[in-house]
Amino acid sequence: MKDKPKNNDKLYYIITGIIIVLCIAAILTITLMNNNDTNSESKELAYTELIKKLENKEVEKIEMTVGSTSAKVKLKNEEEEKQVIVPSTQAFMELIQEQTQKGNEFELIQKPTSILLKISDTLFSLLPTILIVILFVLIFKMQGLGDKGKVYDSEKSEDTHTTFKDVAGLDEEKNELIEIVDFLKEPKKFHEMGAKIPRGILLCGKPGTGKTLIAKAIAGEANVPFISMSGSEFIEMFAGLGASRVRKLFEKAKKIAPCIIFIDEIDAIGARRTNASGAESENNQTLNQLLVEMDGFETNETVIVLAATNRPEMLDKALLRPGRFDRQITIAAPDAKGREEILKIHGKDKKFASNIDLKEIANDTAGFTGAELANVLNEAAIIATIKKHKKIEEEDLEDAVKKVTVGLEKHSRVISDKDKKLTAYHEAGHAIVSKFLETQQDVKEVSIIPRGLAGGYTMYKTNEDKYYISKTEMEEKLIALLGGRAAEKIALNDISTGASNDIEVATKIAQDMVTVYGMSDNIGPIYLKQKDPYEPQVFGENIDDAIGLEVKTMIDTAYKRAQEIILAHMDKLQAVAERLLEKEIISAEEFETFFN
Ligand code: ADP
Ligand code: ZN
Repeated sequence: MKDKPKNNDKLYYIITGIIIVLCIAAILTITLMNNNDTNSESKELAYTELIKKLENKEVEKIEMTVGSTSAKVKLKNEEEEKQVIVPSTQAFMELIQEQTQKGNEFELIQKPTSILLKISDTLFSLLPTILIVILFVLIFKMQGLGDKGKVYDSEKSEDTHTTFKDVAGLDEEKNELIEIVDFLKEPKKFHEMGAKIPRGILLCGKPGTGKTLIAKAIAGEANVPFISMSGSEFIEMFAGLGASRVRKLFEKAKKIAPCIIFIDEIDAIGARRTNASGAESENNQTLNQLLVEMDGFETNETVIVLAATNRPEMLDKALLRPGRFDRQITIAAPDAKGREEILKIHGKDKKFASNIDLKEIANDTAGFTGAELANVLNEAAIIATIKKHKKIEEEDLEDAVKKVTVGLEKHSRVISDKDKKLTAYHEAGHAIVSKFLETQQDVKEVSIIPRGLAGGYTMYKTNEDKYYISKTEMEEKLIALLGGRAAEKIALNDISTGASNDIEVATKIAQDMVTVYGMSDNIGPIYLKQKDPYEPQVFGENIDDAIGLEVKTMIDTAYKRAQEIILAHMDKLQAVAERLLEKEIISAEEFETFFN
């Protein structure tokens, strides 16, 4: 949405600049060099010819400028002077000396270097320096031009229409922010009462949960400009630029106040200060400038700074002090009701088949963010168009959900039979193992068609949003995740790299169980996740070993259990894997038939 100046543009300007400068310099030097010679309309005489004439003693007069590569020669039998281009001054001087020693008599006039020549000479020697200086000036100018597009990205004109109505769910958050809207609308009322309105508000949450959207909505509700900038944009290639950008951003805001400044990814600049050098000290400068600006507001300036981050714990504590970003609002991924509302908002202008129930889709998309949901509907519309459906149908939506979660189907990828077999057993392993686990969701689809990076996938039904997950459920999740690897090992007597993602996810879950949820009996309910790498740790080094041991025990136990389940149901594994090899995809209903 932001129209970032393209790097190509910058490059274009710089190159044009250099070419222009080069041309001017070249023209200047050439004219200056030639200037002192061209005023006489003398004809030219070749150097070799001159040597001959000298030998023959036909030369009357030689006139030359010191340092110049041309000379004027008057021959005895001619009226006009002729111009000679000499290959090198030194060789020319030697020639003249040689001739005079031989007794050859002619008039030699040596003019001192002309001022013009001197200038052009100096210019020539200074040329590289001048060019470099001009180049730098140009680059900084371009940078400045870029700023105008970037920093002063007032999106008022395009986005005044974003209001709270466009933000689905998030009712509490909207309620909390409504006073900001009032304040932006009628700052006087608040000032007269002596009320202090927060300067900075930190919006915390995963990407795509609607932080930018809600910030824009505040601007839209209050009908004030919205200036936005991303933290990562502050970190630029030239030192000192980040800080000056922050300054300019706030300058601009104060000029057009009342308004909203939105800083996305504030952690890119607001991360803890360190004593390091280079990029980090550049970072410090930017952060310091931001702190200065936050403190520098006059009480009557109505500028509200909203900043978004996914990692509030990484931020420098100084940023969170009173008067700065002293208010935090956490924006969580939407629940089922929120998802339904988001789908409704984004489905407004889309044509759905009559049997489509957005509530059902909401129930099937637990964990999706607002951005992902918007994406699902858009993908569904694209798929429906490509398939020439009159309206968006259920299968289009299902495809879209899959596309957003596991990536695009890759029919073009050539897969060897061996890989196919491996994938079939791996996926069948997940499906069978989770089938025999009480807490795990029912299988929705098993497929060995590659999607995104995955060679195949097992999808589970999601039917409810849960706020709490029990220890048993987490343990069984580990078992289901390792079901793929277990099946490979038992059925094919070998293991593959295909399980790497399962292993990664399982390890993370096990780690969280120990360090965040206090679910390990040996360690107990203690929070051990290292959130803040700069703060001293409460526990000694040994605690890491203890955590590692606990994680290993959990994973080992789960893997053992997965293998037991596979061994007990080898016939089913075989059958499901074979069906997968034959049909590539198995639906929920078909999967159930194996167990009747
Ligand atoms: P963030 O800033 O948190 O990364 P955005 O505000 O950029 O997320 O959200 C991206 C897009 O997702 C929005 O433009 C909007 O289309 C959609 N979206 C996210 N949350 C919501 C919501 N609560 N209601 C409606 N649309 C949403
Ligand atoms: Zn797997």
